[in-house]
Amino acid sequence: MKHIWLIACAALISLSAEARLKALIIDGQNNHVVWPKSTIMMKQYLEDTGLFEVDIDRTRYTWKADKEASFLTLAGVGETENLKEPKSDPSFLPVFSKYDVVISNFGWKAADWPEATQKALERFVENGGGFVSVHAADNSFPDWKEYNRMIGLGGWGDRTEKDGPYVYYTNDGKLVRDTSPGKAGAHGPRHEFPITVRIADHPITEGMPATWQTTSDECYAKLRGPAENMTILATGKDQNKKPPTNRHEPILMVIEYGKGRVFHTTLGHDTESLESVGFIVSFLRGVEWAATGMVTQPIPDDFPTAEKSTKRTFVLQSDS
Ligand SMILES: [Zn+2]
Repeated sequence: MKHIWLIACAALISLSAEARLKALIIDGQNNHVVWPKSTIMMKQYLEDTGLFEVDIDRTRYTWKADKEASFLTLAGVGETENLKEPKSDPSFLPVFSKYDVVISNFGWKAADWPEATQKALERFVENGGGFVSVHAADNSFPDWKEYNRMIGLGGWGDRTEKDGPYVYYTNDGKLVRDTSPGKAGAHGPRHEFPITVRIADHPITEGMPATWQTTSDECYAKLRGPAENMTILATGKDQNKKPPTNRHEPILMVIEYGKGRVFHTTLGHDTESLESVGFIVSFLRGVEWAATGMVTQPIPDDFPTAEKSTKRTFVLQSDS
């Protein structure tokens, strides 16, 4: 089996540049100080599959870029200016239409994009483009109506019942859309917690064990949003002594937006979270699905189980 897989891998790696999927990672302002590094980690993960060609586009004004500043230049985006507070960048105008899929590594409190850029992303996804929201990207842009429709659910940024229902699974497996008043967004301390696959025959989750462990990460809870055309593929249950809820919270989601496909993962808080094989594999499969509607990547042998989380220590490749 492994032998066949290796041959398949070699075939993928030899895909010509034209045959590779074009992915764009966008970033620049995120309360998670890991972001300059996590962008490079995600780029390397994608390129390592042999399936993707990856570009990065960044706002000229960055926020919280100091901690991992050594990764900034690896993005190849030219000069940026790190500010004390997020600031709108009128020159941030990525050409989304050049890509098959766009991945957001923005986070909480990211300044609004120019209206033309918002409209361009809306059109891109509406017309069949893929979009991927990673961890705190679902904190961004609480007042941008179409963005919230794309991501299905979001948290913080004064999101409340006005933005849509709180969606979760009960402990006995019932899907609930709770419209009662309440703030959106909560999490306890980072820890390893179990993920339960809810839809096992979706291309992204197919072949995953029914339950698997994250590495140390945040279990987002109480997310709210329009939740239209949204399918929850997998949920997480916080294991902290005082969890924010005693419920199973949406972790992996897919949303249809026009002709486009959106993959939303709430995993990926910091380096250790991004080294989780569960994060890496669900992210890579989610990006491929958002780009094409299919997944060709197998579940690897080191995928976590119900009992054991697994990680791959990140080693920067010199050509990244
Ligand atoms: Zn976080």
